[in-house]
Amino acid sequence: VFAAIVQAPEDPILGVTVAYNKDQSPIKLNLGVGAYRTEEGKPLVLNVVRKAEQLLVNDQSRVKEYLPILGLAEFNKLSAKLILGDDSPAIQENRVATAQCLSGTGSLRVGAEFLAKHYNERTIYIPQPSWGNHLKVFTMAGLSVKTYSYYDPTTRGLNFQGLLEDLGAAPAGAIVLLHACAHNPTGVDPTVEQWEQIRQLIRSKGLLPFFDSAYQGFASGSLDADAQPVRMFVADGGECFIAQSYAKNMGLYGERVGALSIVCKAADVASRVESQLKLVIRPMYSNPPLHGASIASTILKNSDLYNEWKVELKAMADRIISMRKQLFDALTAKGTPGDWSHIIKQIGMFTFTGLNRDQVAFMTKEYHIYMTSDGRISMAGLSSSTVPHLADAIHAAVTC
Ligand code: PMP
Repeated sequence: VFAAIVQAPEDPILGVTVAYNKDQSPIKLNLGVGAYRTEEGKPLVLNVVRKAEQLLVNDQSRVKEYLPILGLAEFNKLSAKLILGDDSPAIQENRVATAQCLSGTGSLRVGAEFLAKHYNERTIYIPQPSWGNHLKVFTMAGLSVKTYSYYDPTTRGLNFQGLLEDLGAAPAGAIVLLHACAHNPTGVDPTVEQWEQIRQLIRSKGLLPFFDSAYQGFASGSLDADAQPVRMFVADGGECFIAQSYAKNMGLYGERVGALSIVCKAADVASRVESQLKLVIRPMYSNPPLHGASIASTILKNSDLYNEWKVELKAMADRIISMRKQLFDALTAKGTPGDWSHIIKQIGMFTFTGLNRDQVAFMTKEYHIYMTSDGRISMAGLSSSTVPHLADAIHAAVTC
């Protein structure tokens, strides 16, 4: 009965790794997937995660019972505190409904399903471009996806005027997806002043902000600084959705640890929202997994582990920043034509190189370097020893 099923295309991001794995060349380099690698090119399990796991293993009182539908209550509280700040009035006033979800993607999807069911304006505006999965997650949940201007290829920076015009023209009540920091794929974030203008516009038009926070701590190395845009929106007392992921900042990728927080205007509303979130989640996956969230909350609630985490997180962020500098210096030293200053100006895991599809294909074919076809490279996949190879490839791609 399934003989007529057609072969599905590979995921545009995860497919890069599939192609990389097939390549036999010893010099191959995977800059496609957004996962942190050490200087030696190896995946990293944070020390603090190892310690938390050890504590969990040693605790013989722990059992493997189901979590509640909304997940680990302690994890939810700590996650809301992490993104909103220790002294957040929204938390103190019990206006935040939080659900532990399956990493960032699951949090976005649960939020989207909730909106499709309970919100009257089913249009969501996502930046152009955005993380490739946004369009699919929101569409599959039944929302209608539109885009707002974000990136300006000529400056390789923010098209702020276009952004204001597009959001200004959005229908009242429309949902707006905002990358909390370290915009993926462009690495271009608004300044604090620009965020303030975006906030005023969103609030004055009655739009609903939905933050995707997949990189808290990864952009600047500071958890608080990277949460600032979210906190600006929550400080004005208005509603806000936030999807958090611990994939990158705790390196818990495969553990699927994340949270959806819905900030409401009153405690009784938050409590009813929470009750409805359970109805969204129960038929989807019943309840979330225990292990990863236990690791995260062990770290978040213990001040020693928390401080150690901040140091390790900063070290990851700093290594990425140093890769930016090294790649920029290498291209400058080679005299590669063009302005490459965006490599050091952009923020977070990715650089949007400005290389076109043909140049990307050339680099893959001739230099065995793998990246998404839009020219996005994961800086976290680079090391001091591979920067020269990448610089050679970029130089050849733009001069051939
Ligand atoms: N949002 C953005 C912008 C991302 O870059 C990612 C991961 N690449 C995610 C969400 C979700 O990641 P995960 O589901 O692994 O937490």
